Amino acid sequence: LTPDPAQGAAVKAADRAHVFHSWSAQGLIDPLAVAGAEGSYFWDYEGNRYLDFTSGLVFTNIGYQHPEVVRAIQEQAARMTTFAPAFAVEARSEAARLIASHTPGDLDKIFFTNGGAEAVENAVRMARLHTGRHKVLAAYRSYHGATNTAINLTGDPRRWASDNGSSGTVHFWAPFLYRSAFYSATQEEECARALQHLEDTIVFEGPAGVAAIVLETVPGTAGIMTPPPGYLQGVRELCDRYGIVFVLDEVMAGFGRTGKWFAAEHDDVVPDLMTFAKGVNSGYVPLGGVAISGAIAETFEKRAFPGGLTYSGHPLACAAAVATIRVMEEEKVVENAAHIGASVIGPGLRDLAERHPSIGEVRGTGMFWALELVRNRETREPLVPYNATGADAAPMAAFGAACKKNGLWPFINMNRIHVVPPCNVTEAEAKEGLAALDEALAVADEHTA
Ligand code: PLP
Repeated sequence: LTPDPAQGAAVKAADRAHVFHSWSAQGLIDPLAVAGAEGSYFWDYEGNRYLDFTSGLVFTNIGYQHPEVVRAIQEQAARMTTFAPAFAVEARSEAARLIASHTPGDLDKIFFTNGGAEAVENAVRMARLHTGRHKVLAAYRSYHGATNTAINLTGDPRRWASDNGSSGTVHFWAPFLYRSAFYSATQEEECARALQHLEDTIVFEGPAGVAAIVLETVPGTAGIMTPPPGYLQGVRELCDRYGIVFVLDEVMAGFGRTGKWFAAEHDDVVPDLMTFAKGVNSGYVPLGGVAISGAIAETFEKRAFPGGLTYSGHPLACAAAVATIRVMEEEKVVENAAHIGASVIGPGLRDLAERHPSIGEVRGTGMFWALELVRNRETREPLVPYNATGADAAPMAAFGAACKKNGLWPFINMNRIHVVPPCNVTEAEAKEGLAALDEALAVADEHTA
């Protein structure tokens, strides 16, 4: 934590000169130069330390620099840093076995990718080949990744510039009572109407042409909307009725985030394909994948699967996954996420909502929470307009700056803050973050009417 502003300036200068950043106007960004990270914290070269309530991009489920996982990566590097995907390799075999031991139902075969988007691409490829159909249905208010099919499935503004109209994707409204597309008053109504709307969409698109329905089990970046009880089971039934492959995207919600190994467990639902990435090894080395049901695996028993990646099941990434999953089992990280979520974060956020008029809704579970910030609780007008930039987004920017001033690094998306600390966050850290939020929310309150 020794400050070294000169080194920080050098890191920043090279970044600004040569690094082309994601999702950004390159001339308008000012990335923080990060000197180090451990557990739930990271720090800059000026000596400022931040409590990371973002888990990176919601991936460091066991925090930064877990010694067991760092050691496993070092040992794997010394033994076999890399190997081609066509071979059976110990780290890869063991990672697949461990992942399959936690996935629901018969999702027992694992196709490895380098991240989430590639997992979604390959899940859709499998669904199309398995069914012989082309269309894929996905929800508004979703994010599935930035490659071609994945971004076309995505239901937020990040799709707009890359929407090529030939991807066979069709969007529908998933349940979200707070901003219901169906004018529902209760979760039961929202569930029933959303299922009817989905069935209507299937019927009007032509069931014989629909290969897959792709849903985030709990939509993440789009706002952490836990589906009402019965919705995912209802989607499962629609898929069975119309011969459609059900793909659950657990890239963000999986590996402990919701207080279960996979979010699908909350609803006792088993998809045909499930995508994962991020938490599988806390992002220490890039890794993602698709967990495949017996029936879909059977399709590719005698027929080649036409997809692959040079680094599929990279030994270093798989060794990190093996160590991460063992750490999560031994240190009861999933149980911790459920416990701290139910006993500290959830009650703490609801308490903040009592005192801060800018909080329109508190929702979430485990280490997966969102605060919907509004100008007016009655009208639910968002604190900033949908997809706002520049001056329109200023109230959220000011709120974010206040969080940082209080030592908290926040995850902000449009008019929401997502509270997504590592799943092994301690009670003291959770309380520290809530206290910082409490102070920063005063800035958001100034914009309420
Ligand atoms: N699916 C979901 C639900 C995600 O949240 C993300 C990333 O945030 C992705 C897919 C894409 O993953 P990646 O960025 O690793 O390609």
